[in-house]
Amino acid sequence: LATAGGPQEERLVVVVRVRPSAETNDHCIDVISEKSLLFDDGGKSRPRQYSYDYVFKETDTQEKVYKKTTAPLVRDVLNGYNAAVFAYGATGSGKTHTMLGPCRKKTTSTANSERGATAAYDVDANNNESGLMVRAIEEIFHNIENSPNNSSKVSISYLEIYNELIRDLLNPGGPLELREDHRGQRITVAGLSEITTTSRQEVVSLLLKGNKARTMEPTAANQTSSRSHALLSITVQTKTPLGTKQGRLFLTDLAGSERAKKTKNRGKRLQEGAHINRSLLALGNCINALSGGARYVNYRDSKLTRLLKEALSGKCKTVMIAHVAPEGKHRDETKNTLVYADRANSI
Ligand code: ADP
Ligand code: MG
Repeated sequence: LATAGGPQEERLVVVVRVRPSAETNDHCIDVISEKSLLFDDGGKSRPRQYSYDYVFKETDTQEKVYKKTTAPLVRDVLNGYNAAVFAYGATGSGKTHTMLGPCRKKTTSTANSERGATAAYDVDANNNESGLMVRAIEEIFHNIENSPNNSSKVSISYLEIYNELIRDLLNPGGPLELREDHRGQRITVAGLSEITTTSRQEVVSLLLKGNKARTMEPTAANQTSSRSHALLSITVQTKTPLGTKQGRLFLTDLAGSERAKKTKNRGKRLQEGAHINRSLLALGNCINALSGGARYVNYRDSKLTRLLKEALSGKCKTVMIAHVAPEGKHRDETKNTLVYADRANSI
């Protein structure tokens, strides 16, 4: 796994997380070590072994996933580097749980509803189930508060890419345009909100509210299938005697990786599926090219890869967390995810 130090270590880390299941029999996944699992294709052939940089079993905690995947990147970001974490997997495999945590609605209303809708969502008070987004922000706040000259500024933005259109999740409205400078080096989203805050409570509220604003489309595969990519970026700017250094962490809750053909849709939603596959394919291609040390990487194929260029190039580190459901009925999607992650890992 990526460890603290400098960006000279492994640039791409690929891990798999198996989500817990209420069903006890007919599982297609058996985690056999910290780095490998067995996949059973339903008796057609002998179980096949897959290996990754790490395999999180059903009982592994949110804290453990944070420590092993994102904590090392947070240290890099505080030192002025960019980094990215992706949650990949089919709808229902646990991506949003990993990135954000449980997003249940509060049953009781609170008197303190000054911030409008934000008060209506549950903020995990004891922090046990908080996801990577919340933990990363907390650790960044903590580091800055405890640094001797406290000269850093943190800002966050949160957007979705849906049907290759960019929307602000902190201030939902019409689609936003990507801008690039004349050399195509710097990419920005025109009009995207950048919020500066140091309050954990406010960040959690903003993220949960933003997540609620993600575009949901009912499909034949799943009523609440998420067809959008949600991208949180956390920017840390620190004044130094030599000028300002900036590090940026991108945390992406990718759209469901299930195939368009499975949803039996025609027209609008089939096109959405095609766009999602395009973004995921473009991301996979970039990651494969990078891990193979390719000279030329094509970021231009999708909005997702254009936005993430600054985190996927140079010395930046990338962590791919591939999510799988263990139940036999999800065997096909689980296999697709294991193979996608295996390709990202093997080159
Ligand atoms: P996705 O975002 O990939 O569609 P979710 O994160 O919404 O999937 O997970 C589907 C369901 O499984 C949710 O009810 C979620 O709370 C639960 N779940 C997923 N992963 C875990 C986990 N590691 N521990 C407990 N519950 C989980
Ligand atoms: Mg989700």
